[in-house]
Amino acid sequence: MRAVCLLSGGLDSATTLACALRDGFEVYSISFDYGQRHQVELECAQRVSDALGAAAHKVIKIDLRAFGGSALTADIDVPKGRPTAEMGEGIPITYVPARNTVFLSIALAWAEVLGATDIYLGVNAVDYSGYPDCRPEYIEAFEKMANLATKAGVEGHGALKIHTPLISLSKAEIIQLGVSLGVDYGLTHSCYDPVEGRPCGRCDSCQLRLAGFVEAGLRDPLEYAG
Ligand SMILES: [Zn+2]
Repeated sequence: MRAVCLLSGGLDSATTLACALRDGFEVYSISFDYGQRHQVELECAQRVSDALGAAAHKVIKIDLRAFGGSALTADIDVPKGRPTAEMGEGIPITYVPARNTVFLSIALAWAEVLGATDIYLGVNAVDYSGYPDCRPEYIEAFEKMANLATKAGVEGHGALKIHTPLISLSKAEIIQLGVSLGVDYGLTHSCYDPVEGRPCGRCDSCQLRLAGFVEAGLRDPLEYAG
């Protein structure tokens, strides 16, 4: 049984890959070189994929910097030191337009070639409710579309399923789950705006990660800048 797992090299996607393996799949991991300012995450994705034992790992190049529109793909400053309450309000500037739709569509194409009917995605609706493409209703709609869009769906070789094992977990719960499944978080990368390859400790993603480790009663193995 094969599955495709979207792997950014971050904490959530590494945990999701571990869940796919736990579920008994032969897992094919896929990452995207989309012009993100935190390109270092691609090396992390490869390391995580090797360490956990994915069957193969692909990096697909799509230049979302061609039109920007996000602090991750344009010359827009990444917000630093925001209070948690502020992070939960509205759609953050680090939202990349239609990113999950673009990525899931490509993962779907690979799944079809592999004869896989399962796709794993590490979205989370708790810590980051501001991202529209991380909501359960979005995932359900994509799954429905995927079954209409593919040869596999039409010929009835089994319905395509999008798995989101982290969608209702807190960051601390995600970390505890990953640790129980043997994820080495020292190989992962979460920062939106690394300083000389090191996480900044102050962007939304770093702050949520650090708070998650504190809440889980564990130490983040990463070394932060400054
Ligand atoms: Zn950061």
